[in-house]
Amino acid sequence: MQIPLGPDGKPCKPCVSFKDWTKLQKKNEIKKEPSSLERIAKVTLADKFGCPVDADELGRHTWTFLHTSAAYYPPAASESQQNQMRNLINSVGTFYPCGDCAGHLRKYVKQYPPQVHSRSALELWLCQMHNEVNVRLGKDEFDCNKVGQRWRDGWNDKSCD
Ligand code: FAD
Repeated sequence: MQIPLGPDGKPCKPCVSFKDWTKLQKKNEIKKEPSSLERIAKVTLADKFGCPVDADELGRHTWTFLHTSAAYYPPAASESQQNQMRNLINSVGTFYPCGDCAGHLRKYVKQYPPQVHSRSALELWLCQMHNEVNVRLGKDEFDCNKVGQRWRDGWNDKSCD
């Protein structure tokens, strides 16, 4: 069968029946365009859903959760809220998937019990705890006066607006 060409000189799909077009495709005489399904299939599961995290990514996400939780913690927490926050911090020390990191956290909590009576106290305690990790890893310390800007309000220079 001759490949019908359209006015542009390219194989002309509307010029033949669907059956013949399929036959030509099967014989590889026409380059098959990927179907929309095939185009979607080219987006891998890794692209779509991500991959298991490494220690750094896990750390960044966990810090994001902890600092953001502190940023929205009640300015004056009830007894029950304080207990729940202590439980959360202790649970991170128990279940954090990096065993060494969890061990360091448990030690820190023993030495410096979490300050959970208010938002500002919790923000500062977390900042100092994070700084202890930063120093241990040879990173710069973060200025704890700026936790509110970093995790709730955005920078004073409006660069987050
Ligand atoms: P991260 O340290 O993840 O910080 C994320 C962002 O937080 C920074 O970009 C900055 O904007 C902000 N930030 C930085 N410091 C502070 C602060 N003091 N207060 C408020 N905000 C701040 N990794 C190890 O290799 N060994 C460990 O023992 C270890 N222990 C960890 C214990 C815990 C509880 C957690 C949550 C993580 C731990 N990690 C550990 C991971 C490590 O802290 C980092 O998350 C990881 O190395 C990626 O670092 P990063 O430079 O991308 O920024």
